[in-house]
Amino acid sequence: MVTRTESMQPHTLASSLDDSVEVFLKRILEINAKVNGELIRDAYRFSWNAHRDQVRKSGEPFLAHPIAVALILAEQQLDSVTIAAGLLHDVLEDTPFRREDIRDAFGEEIALLVDGVTKIRTFQMKSRQERQAETFRKMLLSMAQDLRVIIIKFADRLHNLRTLNYLPPERIKDIATETLDIYAPLAHRLGMARIKWELEDLAFKYLYPHRYKTIVSRIVESRHDRETVIDRFAVPLRRRLETEKLEATVVGRPKHFYSIYRKMEQRNKPFEEIYDLLAIRVITRSIADCYHILGIIHSLWKPITDRFKDYIATPKSNGYQSLHTTVVGTEGNIIEMQIRTWEMNQIAEDGIAAHWLYKNGDGGGTSQLTKDDHALTWLKNLIEWQKDLTDSNEFLEFFKIDLFHAEIFVFTPKGDLISLPKGATVLDFAFAVHTDLGLHCIGAKVDGKIEPIHAVLRSGSTVEVLHLASKKPSINWLREVKTPKARSAVRRWLKSTGRQESIELGKKIVRTRLKKLHLHSSFTDHVPALLQHLGVNSLERLYELIGTGEIPMGRVTQYFEVKKVRQSVSSRVVSSLVDTFTGRKREVLVGNNDNLMVRFARCCNPVPGDSIVGFVTHGRGISVHRTDCSNAALFAGDEERTIRVNWDTGAKKRYLVFLEIQASDRAGLLHDCTSVLSDAGANVVEGTIHTENERVHNRFKIEIVNRNQLRQIIRKLERIKGVTNVSRTRDYDQLADGG
Ligand code: MN
Repeated sequence: MVTRTESMQPHTLASSLDDSVEVFLKRILEINAKVNGELIRDAYRFSWNAHRDQVRKSGEPFLAHPIAVALILAEQQLDSVTIAAGLLHDVLEDTPFRREDIRDAFGEEIALLVDGVTKIRTFQMKSRQERQAETFRKMLLSMAQDLRVIIIKFADRLHNLRTLNYLPPERIKDIATETLDIYAPLAHRLGMARIKWELEDLAFKYLYPHRYKTIVSRIVESRHDRETVIDRFAVPLRRRLETEKLEATVVGRPKHFYSIYRKMEQRNKPFEEIYDLLAIRVITRSIADCYHILGIIHSLWKPITDRFKDYIATPKSNGYQSLHTTVVGTEGNIIEMQIRTWEMNQIAEDGIAAHWLYKNGDGGGTSQLTKDDHALTWLKNLIEWQKDLTDSNEFLEFFKIDLFHAEIFVFTPKGDLISLPKGATVLDFAFAVHTDLGLHCIGAKVDGKIEPIHAVLRSGSTVEVLHLASKKPSINWLREVKTPKARSAVRRWLKSTGRQESIELGKKIVRTRLKKLHLHSSFTDHVPALLQHLGVNSLERLYELIGTGEIPMGRVTQYFEVKKVRQSVSSRVVSSLVDTFTGRKREVLVGNNDNLMVRFARCCNPVPGDSIVGFVTHGRGISVHRTDCSNAALFAGDEERTIRVNWDTGAKKRYLVFLEIQASDRAGLLHDCTSVLSDAGANVVEGTIHTENERVHNRFKIEIVNRNQLRQIIRKLERIKGVTNVSRTRDYDQLADGG
């Protein structure tokens, strides 16, 4: 790739590129003399070429950004591969080069890192919540591949924050908020304190510029007083360490504006009171020296006993180790002392990033964290737990608890130490000890006193879990747990038992409904065909889907109804109903099932004589359409649902009759005539009235069933007042079956 890069460049630029490569490499080597110069040179040239036409919002060449990111990485003592990937980190996002180009030029390891950083990018159109959840998820997954991806991403974010001024205000606010919500807590969790502090202070500056300025100026103002107090402790301590021949550095703790601001907010206290809490850090060579120095400090000043913490014996879950003690000076000043080795200090400041310094001497090649690493275990669990969380709100809520909360330390009855987030309950503790213990937990003895499952634990307590084999988790437990492990275990349990219950319910539904169907053959014989018909791969799964309602039972019964109708279609019975529009009876033949519901489709309203077809509908019996109906065409291909139906030619026929009524005209005559007809059950199809010199000729076209009915109608008509003659004008006129 290097040759390709060079050949693509005009000769005049090549010499200036050579110059800038060497200037950059010199700076890197000053920070870390062990870096692989050739690799850095190649990566620099590649990035220079890829970004050559781009400028940043500030107007400077784009390359300034990857250079700055690479320098941040070098300062953290990261290996050459990571520094090279830092130089290349924006190539895939902003230039025509692809992952394969980087792989061909630099190999798979660097390609993976650059690709990983690129993938963390999220899109603007989503809501802030969704975007944060997505960013976070992507970070977790990228970290699982190689933790250095996230270290590069942090360096990228850090440099972007340092140069945020050129973006529009809303974007600045968005980036600063995301930094405080996600990047800083994650950096903290990975033990990268230095990065975390700088991210927080920069974001704080952008989000609350006024408050930021106030705190900075007050720190500057109080500097002299502060240094005076620190010296009251530091000077005698240094002198004593010298006489004891202990090699150690004593420094005032660096200040972090955002953490001071947070403490003021949280404790609702003024600046002075927060900043009274001074601290000194003592860094030495060995763990033995740490304890030795602790003894010296306690001999010089009086310790506040409950403030002593031994994070060397029991490291925090992000790997942090140190001795903390708070002492009271002769003039009543209170100061915290942190005692640690140089290695502990490095890990305290750079967290997982420090592993590449201590575990890779030459600063090159493949790097792996050890399996027992705290941060890595936490990360693996996190990736496992996040699978259960699909809702972005819940996802963020869940991880904020795991990221932000301070830790508490509690003990098992055997004296094993368990660390939990602040606010953790008895239930969290039970799950932390063992999942089975959690699932059957009914409470605990906390320092000998019985407490319920939702009791919040305090640091230093000894907790003995009380359990009962018959106890089972409930959905309410999700509210009682704080830790991802417990939450995930409860969810998994609820899910698996929920499934079992659905299967049982589905089985019950199928059994009762099939009984009503009176199947000719056993259900088992139908199972393979039924599963295929419904597109389900096992009977158990079918029960589950019916139990949850995802497959309506109607689809199963319909399958059998169709089968049954098909089996018995040879025997003929009449199914009929009265058409609501015309009052006419229409009869069709469908099969031998007298329970079968038949209805005529309203879309085409078939009448006897029309060519018809039936469809098995869901829950509404058989629907009869005209074969030329457009709705019928929709089902035409569905063999399972189509059923042959015929007009019942053996059913009672109806006949058309014309009656002529002669009468002398009077009011209400017509009404009296039609009343007689309808009372007798005849259907009036047509009626005409002729009036001539007080004489009336009424003609009716009616439908009748038989001769007897006609005779009765005529007799009743003749009795109407004023009617002089009733006669049939034509003989029986059969309603044509063929239309
Ligand atoms: Mn970038």
